[in-house]
Amino acid sequence: MRKFIIMGIQGSGKGTQAKLLAEDLELEHFSVGDIFRWNVQHHTKLGAQVKRTMASGRLVSDELVEAVVRDCLAEHDWNYGFVIDGFPRNARQAEFFLESYDIDGVINLYLPDDEVMRRVLSRRLCSRCGLDYNLLAHRPATEDTCDVCQGELVARPDDNEEALALRLAAYHEETKPLIEIFERKEFVATIDATSAVEVVQDAIRQRFDLPARTS
Ligand SMILES: [Zn+2]
Repeated sequence: MRKFIIMGIQGSGKGTQAKLLAEDLELEHFSVGDIFRWNVQHHTKLGAQVKRTMASGRLVSDELVEAVVRDCLAEHDWNYGFVIDGFPRNARQAEFFLESYDIDGVINLYLPDDEVMRRVLSRRLCSRCGLDYNLLAHRPATEDTCDVCQGELVARPDDNEEALALRLAAYHEETKPLIEIFERKEFVATIDATSAVEVVQDAIRQRFDLPARTS
């Protein structure tokens, strides 16, 4: 069984990398962010709580994240293992997690802060159909206009320099002690995430002696 933790700042392509790895190796992909987003979209109680917190530029509480992960790991069967993304978030959770699950490794996607800024601030969203755009990689044919529904493209309210600077600082403060714990156990593969998606994926697999990509 293969069990991985994946870490990486916003814009590092963490979700994409986790998905690629999980699909190919039949791992269960647990993304705390995706679970929260689903709940926001479906107007659940949890969703309302998450929405309020994010609107104020803060991070969702540890307790909430922990509860979500506990439910996930209990509800799903993960015969071949899992990739977990968005957890653990602090030293206490990390120690607990490492004691409870025999983790193969931590994939730490590294992206410099200025590159995070560049990537995140170029994201756009169709205000009508919700399709994602990126002015670096996926530009619309007509400026500020959705290719599919002609809706207006907007930035997410929390994708501005001030909110992003806060998130970057919080991310570094939060992950530093985590990385130290994982490094003590010689678990961490720090992967340069500035390269193309496929290159990053191949680097992850090489680092953990995993089978090469089939797609
Ligand atoms: Zn649209």
